[in-house]
Amino acid sequence: MSQTPAGYFFETQTHCDMCGHSTEKASVIGHRASRTTGFFPRRARGVIVPVLRCNNCGLYFSDPMPVPMDISQHYGVDPVDYWPESLNYFVEDPGYFSGEIAVAKRLLNFQPGMRSLDIGSGIGKSLRAMTRAGFEPFGIEPSEKFRQYATEKNGIPASSIQAAQVETAVFEENFFDFITFGAVLEHVYHPSQCMNIALKWLKPGGILHVEVPSPDWLIARLINLVYRLQGTTFVTNISPMHVPYHLYEFTVPSFQAFARRSGCEIAHHEFFVCAQYHVPKFLQGLLRSIMSRTNTGMQLSMYLRKTG
Ligand SMILES: [Zn+2]
Repeated sequence: MSQTPAGYFFETQTHCDMCGHSTEKASVIGHRASRTTGFFPRRARGVIVPVLRCNNCGLYFSDPMPVPMDISQHYGVDPVDYWPESLNYFVEDPGYFSGEIAVAKRLLNFQPGMRSLDIGSGIGKSLRAMTRAGFEPFGIEPSEKFRQYATEKNGIPASSIQAAQVETAVFEENFFDFITFGAVLEHVYHPSQCMNIALKWLKPGGILHVEVPSPDWLIARLINLVYRLQGTTFVTNISPMHVPYHLYEFTVPSFQAFARRSGCEIAHHEFFVCAQYHVPKFLQGLLRSIMSRTNTGMQLSMYLRKTG
């Protein structure tokens, strides 16, 4: 997979995608290179973009935003290449997505047969979990390789997964009880637009679940400190031009602002600590405990209820 800056155009961000405020007064919190920088960012080569924080809602994004000429430049990969085997992503995990399903069921007053939609259903792990939990699950997944894996290895009927992006998928309005974005929203160029499309498909009272990276993640703060101590302005937040291609990091206020503009309310939110693969084992217990006590986990999980 070649990653040359020539493969991008650069889009100016005039307004925050989540709250709509002008980006004129957004703070530049640092810089991000087009390749991973490791612990020694002074050696960084390639194109460098500023990383900004919205002064109204705290959303992290880059301005300009690098947009690939062809999206397959980022995602035309085999599932096995996207998730390194070391992450054990392909191993059957009976607990997968079970915490999120339990919260959704509680917020929905669950009845068997409620319809769910997984946007970016990938290899079908969440669809499988939702089937087991009594939902009638549907998926949207643009990658043919991922859809094939979902059907062949995870037993999801091909007819339940639309080969589409959020913008091109077709569903009736007010059709689903539960919609989840999994790890999607940080990869799309206009997250609020994608959530608004999903909200149309959701029944009033239905739950939209979104899981996104948080800029308050303790490990990222520590890495940023290491970069600062080396006298550089690099930060580890977002990665618009290299794996994992995160374009945004989200805060609770960014969802509060979105909810006010979009006919929904925050029903529940929590921070997830996640496994810390790049941290020495002996430190993991301590860091996990600090992160769960201080809401500085890696992921933010939001549950929005459609009110309109
Ligand atoms: Zn904002």
